[in-house]
Amino acid sequence: MSGLELKNIVKNFGSVEVIRDVSLAVNDGEFVAFVGPSGCGKSTLLRLIAGLDKPTGGNIVIDGNDVTDITAADRGLAMVFQSYALYPHMSVRENLAFGLENTKVAKAEIEARIADAARMLEIEPFLQRRPGQLSGGQRQRVAIGRAIVRRPDAFLLDEPLSNLDAELRVSMRTELAALHARLKATMIYVTHDQVEAMTLADRIVVLRGGRIEQVGTPLELYNKPANRFVAGFIGAPH
Ligand code: ADP
Ligand code: MG
Repeated sequence: MSGLELKNIVKNFGSVEVIRDVSLAVNDGEFVAFVGPSGCGKSTLLRLIAGLDKPTGGNIVIDGNDVTDITAADRGLAMVFQSYALYPHMSVRENLAFGLENTKVAKAEIEARIADAARMLEIEPFLQRRPGQLSGGQRQRVAIGRAIVRRPDAFLLDEPLSNLDAELRVSMRTELAALHARLKATMIYVTHDQVEAMTLADRIVVLRGGRIEQVGTPLELYNKPANRFVAGFIGAPH
């Protein structure tokens, strides 16, 4: 497999250029963090990769196939949002199963995947509860579980921990790292928290005003920031 490639991606909303000629190659299995200040285009870029929105220009290639005109459902990706986006009237189990019903996945296989994800995320005791009966951290685990059961080639996570309190954010960080190690799936992780990016990512993409300022490993960005903006954002001496 050859990962994911963004080629000269442009996105305009009306006359406003929100993503300006972004090119990036993400390796299969890599954990890449998109960081940058609020409004720099992180969520927009993730939505373009997910297929929830169409680029104005450029191409998106997944495993060697151009998916620019392919629907979200056919891209083999799963997205996790900051707001969980769980169905409040369904149990946790039903939320986990929802994306797999009406697919080719057999019933027994759906059950096996739910059991596996529930074990991995330690949400087994809550399978019969509704999301409203769970804490924020438990809900976010369910949201991640819903992505896991789909067995996607890549996970797209948009600030998944930012609604959680500080202590929980730190413990969930460790869980995400363990999950990545176990699943070996590509993860693209949007965060405005540079500590999260530095601890989790193989490579960090620093965005500003819809452009990439720098791409590198946490150490490269820390030791050799391309400019004062990157240094300031990463918290490196400059
Ligand atoms: P980030 O996730 O980095 O905070 P976003 O990708 O959400 O940034 O937004 C980037 C810019 O695009 C912002 O200026 C935002 O107002 C604008 N934007 C995002 N979505 C839309 C939309 N659907 N219509 C118009 N402008 C949008
Ligand atoms: Mg955002």
